[in-house]
Amino acid sequence: SPRVVVAGETLIDFLPDREGSLRSVESFSRRPGGAPANVAVALSHLDETPAFSTRVGDDPFGDFLVETLADAGLGTEFVERDPEAKTSLAFVALGDDADRGFSFYRDRTADTRMEPGAVPDATLEAAEWVHVGGVTLTNEPSREATFDLMRRARDAGATVSFDPNARPELWSEFDYAESVQEAFELADVVKATPEDLDELDYDGDPESVGREITEDGPHTVFLTLGSEGSLAVTTEASPWSDGGDVVSHGGYDVDPVDTTGAGDAFTAGVVAALVDGRSLSESLAFANAVAAVTTTAAGAMTALPDREAVREFVASQ
Ligand code: ATP
Repeated sequence: SPRVVVAGETLIDFLPDREGSLRSVESFSRRPGGAPANVAVALSHLDETPAFSTRVGDDPFGDFLVETLADAGLGTEFVERDPEAKTSLAFVALGDDADRGFSFYRDRTADTRMEPGAVPDATLEAAEWVHVGGVTLTNEPSREATFDLMRRARDAGATVSFDPNARPELWSEFDYAESVQEAFELADVVKATPEDLDELDYDGDPESVGREITEDGPHTVFLTLGSEGSLAVTTEASPWSDGGDVVSHGGYDVDPVDTTGAGDAFTAGVVAALVDGRSLSESLAFANAVAAVTTTAAGAMTALPDREAVREFVASQ
């Protein structure tokens, strides 16, 4: 039975064939995505195949995504098809317009209709680690499904991790900052970028921001810093605490083609290394390597490395 459980959205990213605003792009390529799906597939590549709980529409895009997950070696036990809702779509803009470049088709889509209880207690009790993200908190019932999973995973004794995954245009019914705060209180581990936290009341350099987050509940906080690598802040309650010190790794040198999903690959690297009993600093280095390799091809799931590819990449550095 899987040591890791991942839950959340699987969707289609439409990537433009060139940079520029969505108003001007004519052609897009279809790529499987959704942050939790990226994490699940990345874990599978690292031989840490998780139980993945998700929900897609009973439509051709859903067929494609189910096929993608199966091809990645993920079980389909917790992959639901929703006969009454569509699969979410996200059109992405690249380049200088990237900041305002998302256009989501996610109104009452299948992923927002994930329900509490989809993952049974027995699966959570057998797991060591449960990972969820912020996108399923935007709407009910997936919001309660996510919080409920976090609570039950805690009760079952699993390590619970949360990635806020800020997507401002998806939030209308609930408040992003309040929701993320609520999730932090239920999480043992947080993985975020400084930008994810812009709307929250944290101040200072990444290290102090990480420290402040630990005061809200999590014993371990990972912050990723793009080409600068990543850092981890722990409290003494963290099983990986090195005397409560901050651990950092400066990242690896690559020529990135597309950083989409780099953060998700990082999460998978951290989880795979830590459930294997590796130290915090080894895990950071490993996760940075997994993430760096992932940036070398377009699409979040295109360049996900297996362990051998990570070894070769690190050796080549
Ligand atoms: P995304 O949202 O696109 O998935 P992110 O914004 O969540 O990514 P980043 O902090 O940009 O996360 O990147 C995550 C990790 O990926 C970094 O910690 C680093 O290990 C790796 N990475 C990203 N960009 C680069 C780069 N240009 N060179 C080397 N490594 C990178």
